[in-house]
Amino acid sequence: MSHAVTRSTYDEVMFPNYNPAGFIPVRGQGSRVWDQDGREFIDFAGGIAVNGLGHCHPELVAALTEQAGKLWHVSNVFTNEPVLRLAERLTGLTFAERAFFCNSGAEANEAAFKLARKYAADHYGAAKNEIISCRNAFHGRTLFTVTVGGQPKYTEGFGPVPEAVRHVPFNDIAALEAMVSERTCAVVIEPVQGEGGVMPADKAYLEAARRLCDQHGALLIFDEVQTGMGRTGSLYAYMQYGVTPDILSSAKALGGGFPIGAILTTAKVASSFVVGTHGSTYGGNPLASAVALRAVDIISRPEVLAGVTARHDQLVAGLADLNARHKVFREVRGMGLLLGCVLQEAYAGRSRDILRAAEAQGVMVLVAGADVIRLAPSLVIDPADIDEGLRRFDTALANFAGA
Ligand SMILES: *Cc1c(COP(=O)(O)O)cnc(C)c1O
Repeated sequence: MSHAVTRSTYDEVMFPNYNPAGFIPVRGQGSRVWDQDGREFIDFAGGIAVNGLGHCHPELVAALTEQAGKLWHVSNVFTNEPVLRLAERLTGLTFAERAFFCNSGAEANEAAFKLARKYAADHYGAAKNEIISCRNAFHGRTLFTVTVGGQPKYTEGFGPVPEAVRHVPFNDIAALEAMVSERTCAVVIEPVQGEGGVMPADKAYLEAARRLCDQHGALLIFDEVQTGMGRTGSLYAYMQYGVTPDILSSAKALGGGFPIGAILTTAKVASSFVVGTHGSTYGGNPLASAVALRAVDIISRPEVLAGVTARHDQLVAGLADLNARHKVFREVRGMGLLLGCVLQEAYAGRSRDILRAAEAQGVMVLVAGADVIRLAPSLVIDPADIDEGLRRFDTALANFAGA
């Protein structure tokens, strides 16, 4: 047997860019996770909205192992059956007519922004190159995507950054009206800002963005990396809002935990990516595509999507009950199973302390900034696990508020 690795090994051999929890998960089943010592956790974090079907969903394990015995990778010098089936399914279920695959959310957005620039250059000339995004937005960690994302702390020290990227306050129609012009090639919006604190867009805001893009010949990009794949109660959040983008980026739960990203768009917009203009060695490989295809099939079942709404109601009611006693949260917001519990003024900046208190009670939660606890459990979490997780969170909040 090899020697033991522990949390302290992390500090000896890994880059210091993360600060992981004190325990190391070794096994997961559904919405329960076990660590090295056999301690059990209820998972309300869902791998940051990735494990949409929980851990080791039997149908995903079957899809993965079945494909693993057939064909893993051939590169895009060749196409493959799973990727074609996945593209057929995603275009069949959405507004889109074409799909491009990559391996992460950042890569999906990188492709979306490059495509928007290329499309504008092709149709209007190189001067139409400005990308408008929202403050507090998050679009990934490549240099282009951190630049478009609206959080300066993620670009500090990494300059010079790409040019012609402008930011507007989120949900502010007047500010968007003032900013969009003939120079704008794209407006990019998360229907619910995830990392930025679980902040849903107003329907009127997305409608205004759609109208302004149409008026100025700009493309509307929805970053649905976090909101996609049933998270908000529809396959993609744009369906609930009734506002259709020109380009949609997807990742996170698309592969249910297996890395894959995608952009979806119309045939006309996609045609700007002619042969050789963009690519990814791993993008759309058979293994990732086979798993994603199964995940899409399961998540798009009406009973799974309806289950998200039922679980939302259960979780929100349970949180309200806890909060009536502990008065830690000012507000619980979000859509479907993407919820943000906003801390009261008195607890400002202390979301990490609550995360640690929850960990101590055996429940995994997330933060979204210093003032918001974020929950993004499996879409098919057992209602009994929601109750048990809430019981543990109750104790965690009592310990936190009493401390
Ligand atoms: C997580 C996230 C990304 C980045 O995805 P990665 O797979 O980490 O590159 C982009 N946009 C949004 C909205 C996200 O939540």
